[in-house]
Amino acid sequence: MVPTNTYIDVAVALPVGNTFCYGVPQSFTSLISVGKRVLVPFGQRRVTGFILGTSNAATDKNIKLILDVLDDSPLFPAAMVPFFQWIADYYKHPIGDVIKTALPGGLTIYDVASIAIADKGHQALRQGSVTPVEKQILECLISGPCRQKDLSKTLDQPIPAALIQSLDRRGRITKTRLLSGGKTKVRTQRHVALVETDLSDAGLSPARQQIIEILKAQREASLKELKTHVPSAPAVIRSLEDEGYVKIISKRVYRDPLGEPIRPDVVPRLTVEQQHVVASVCQHLNNGFTTFLLQGVTGSGKTEVYMQVAADAISKGHSVLVLVPEIALITQMERRFRARFGERIAVLHSGLSAGERFDQWSRILNKEADIAIGARSAIFAPFENIGIIIVDEEHDTSYKQETHLRYNARDLAVVRAMLNNCVALLGSATPSIQSYYNVCQQKFLELTLKERIEKRPLPEIDVVDLRQNRDARGIRRFITSELHLAMKETLARGEQILLFLNRRGFASFPICAACGQAIRCKHCDISLTLHQKANAYKCHYCGFSRASSSHCTVCGSTRIKNLGLGTEKVESALNQLFPEARVARMDRDTTMRKGSILTLLKGIKNKTIDILVGTQMVAKGHDFPNITLVGIICADLSLSFPDFRAGERTFQLLAQVAGRAGRGDVPGRVILQTFNPEHFSILAAKHQDFKTFYTQEIEFRKALNYPPLSRMIQLKISGKDQTKTEAHARVLGKTCHDLRSQNITMYRPVEIMGPIEASLPRIARFYRWQILLKSLHTKALHDFTGRLLADHSAGFGRRDVKVIVDVDPYFMM
Ligand code: ADP
Ligand code: ZN
Ligand code: ZN
Repeated sequence: MVPTNTYIDVAVALPVGNTFCYGVPQSFTSLISVGKRVLVPFGQRRVTGFILGTSNAATDKNIKLILDVLDDSPLFPAAMVPFFQWIADYYKHPIGDVIKTALPGGLTIYDVASIAIADKGHQALRQGSVTPVEKQILECLISGPCRQKDLSKTLDQPIPAALIQSLDRRGRITKTRLLSGGKTKVRTQRHVALVETDLSDAGLSPARQQIIEILKAQREASLKELKTHVPSAPAVIRSLEDEGYVKIISKRVYRDPLGEPIRPDVVPRLTVEQQHVVASVCQHLNNGFTTFLLQGVTGSGKTEVYMQVAADAISKGHSVLVLVPEIALITQMERRFRARFGERIAVLHSGLSAGERFDQWSRILNKEADIAIGARSAIFAPFENIGIIIVDEEHDTSYKQETHLRYNARDLAVVRAMLNNCVALLGSATPSIQSYYNVCQQKFLELTLKERIEKRPLPEIDVVDLRQNRDARGIRRFITSELHLAMKETLARGEQILLFLNRRGFASFPICAACGQAIRCKHCDISLTLHQKANAYKCHYCGFSRASSSHCTVCGSTRIKNLGLGTEKVESALNQLFPEARVARMDRDTTMRKGSILTLLKGIKNKTIDILVGTQMVAKGHDFPNITLVGIICADLSLSFPDFRAGERTFQLLAQVAGRAGRGDVPGRVILQTFNPEHFSILAAKHQDFKTFYTQEIEFRKALNYPPLSRMIQLKISGKDQTKTEAHARVLGKTCHDLRSQNITMYRPVEIMGPIEASLPRIARFYRWQILLKSLHTKALHDFTGRLLADHSAGFGRRDVKVIVDVDPYFMM
């Protein structure tokens, strides 16, 4: 064994619960720091792990030594380790895998670094002050640069990354990071700057003279701009550069999502309400952990509040994290923040390539950015010293990750703020029941913005009872005469219309006219949806599709009635009802291509679209000032889901869509069509009255002990074999019941519901069962689940039947 006195705590990227202690050979000790990756022996294998800290478990004689240190610099700050530990513990997920999820993909970028011999390397070779391996490496590099990962192969022996790092640090080689597959979409522009020299004998032709004058006046200018003044600028500048009078720099340019350059904005005078909110938050900055819930009606100026508190946090030397639910909104938020704060902004979301994500991550680590704006995964932004975490549209369900590590970024924002001893600010026009409950429990502080900016009125909402329209035929059933009339008037005034229907496709319920059977997915227990443009019936759960000319699989008839409504059918009806109007559709089908959302938003902005039909994508926070009529085609779709949050989702969705109307100078109107005009979720949405909605909804949650009063953990059991899946669900159910009854004093507060078959019993060929664990005592619930996982790990790690632990589940069908 190599002598060592340094021990480190390592999280391996394997599905194991705990961390492991390793020894560090002396030659590596100077390279060790928290946040770097190491290569370690693990059983018969060699695996990657993350250094979490030093360890003093040095008593064990059998401690193994690390084999290599893989990174030149840490991938995350030490301050994040407690956060990772919290997540691993709460979500019952292996910590190594938590870290892997947190880090941007594309870390292999480091492994494809290219190395070349430097002058000092040549020198060392000449002087012979090299070890045999170093000599081999340097000699190999004399013939040209080499990819680091190819070096071992070329030299036919393992070359530790730590050795390369050491050569790099001693200046004997140079290392260039290569972006693997990174079609980096960073845009650059060539700028020209004056080099400080004597220009007296530069032979100034009029063109040269003019360019020099411009550069003297504004220090530097883009080549493009110079060309507008001096058409021959490119040639003139080339010669000026050759003679050393100017230099050309490549500069990153930022554009807003609509492709326009971003101009610095003017900070507006806050309204009295905004002033109060900003002052309350700023008072708590640098002053410990606090969570605020800002309930501000749509258009009340929440984003302005975010920017001003962010400015205050930055002036106090902290960084700022802003979470936004989805990419289209991130670009909008990014544009406004860039206009205010310039370039010290990093953006993190899934629309970036691996290379771009990695670059953004590095900018945060290198302290080149103080503000990060991003979707849920941005909660892992590697800041060391956060002042405030802002979560916009905090009620949005897309903060919940539904695969792999099933975290909720909104909840983690509060946790990270607590661990960092800083402020969390959650904002929404329609807060989640969970967050408002926390206000009532005095865990969160409440802030409100009751008025729209410039006292713009909230839109007037008319409810139309669809039951009155039962006898109307065809699309007239859904474009009621009230809606039709309002649309005609709006178009006549040259204003824009938004129609909302939360279901895509043409017909969501095709049935066979001969035998009456629904046309179903082959792999799921679900009706297919007709997509007319694609000429196919598609499954919205597994992606299966069949030609639209298919026969009934039961009786073979070709007579299929395409019942049920979707955005595509609405769009085609509008083309008939309003042949003059320019109609566009925004749903998952029309926005698959990158950039298509922005094209649609641009169409609205430039008024080349008169009517936009869309799913919930149109409901979210967009600012469309010329939309004065919003039509909600059928408000009830989400109400009938077998999910205790159905009422909450419906209220949020309706109030948000309605809020898209009348954000400009002209007041807005909303027509809300429904089969349930008396339902309290619908009535509350009509009055945009969150408090009344909350008061009724919380009673229902209390009566049934649902969250936020209790907490839940769902065990999702699935397998391709129906019998085995059910059998395993029953075994696991018995294990749960036994564990509870054997420790009844401890686990009495834990309710075990099931196992039962899921409401969607089969998705993508997998049969699905579930067990729901519920409790008013969070600790008992988590202890119980932890114990279940520890004592019965065999029940969770099977090949044929998968069991997923979903803590605080959202999608429960
Ligand atoms: P919200 O996020 O609450 O929906 P926004 O922040 O988008 O509202 O604000 C709505 C509009 O009002 C935006 O165009 C914004 O620039 C403008 N605005 C916000 N605060 C002010 C203010 N104090 N004075 C003037 N305009 C403001
Ligand atoms: Zn399917
Ligand atoms: Zn049939």
